[in-house]
Amino acid sequence: MRIGYGWDSHEFKSGIPLKIGGVTLPHNKGLGGHSDGDILLHATTDALLGAIAAPDIGSLFPPSDLQWKGADSVIFLQEALDRIRAAGYTIANVDSTLILAKPKIGPHAAAIRARIAELLEIPEDAIGLKAKTPEGMGTDNAAIAHVIVLLEKRHKLKQGSSRPGKKAAEKRK
Ligand SMILES: [Zn+2]
Repeated sequence: MRIGYGWDSHEFKSGIPLKIGGVTLPHNKGLGGHSDGDILLHATTDALLGAIAAPDIGSLFPPSDLQWKGADSVIFLQEALDRIRAAGYTIANVDSTLILAKPKIGPHAAAIRARIAELLEIPEDAIGLKAKTPEGMGTDNAAIAHVIVLLEKRHKLKQGSSRPGKKAAEKRK
């Protein structure tokens, strides 16, 4: 098993859509910075990459590279998924915490969990999502995400009909 942890933050800016967990939320500001500013997908990507000791999101997709400006963060998550699968792992579960003053995440939590489940191809009950307000932190103009993932080694698929049981039975003939 492997554990992975990711963290991300972006600043609120006017005139851009707010995307969290691959879902566009109704709000008068969005998150600026890298790509579409999706803190939850960025932190999840880093958690997956970290679990297999792969380079982080900023190394694989440098914010200075203009091709990632405004990009859909699903691209980054997909790369991380491909890498953990190539390393022989599947996701056991994900837990996450969002820290932001506004908007309230509660009304959108089900939609965000459903989208993350779809993207990671795991059941919704394997995805934890909590939201907190940044009391006393002075970060009201930022949104922060913490994500932790647990990976399990994938069971080796039995190839064709050469199951050990069958082979052993054939040998006995
Ligand atoms: Zn980010």
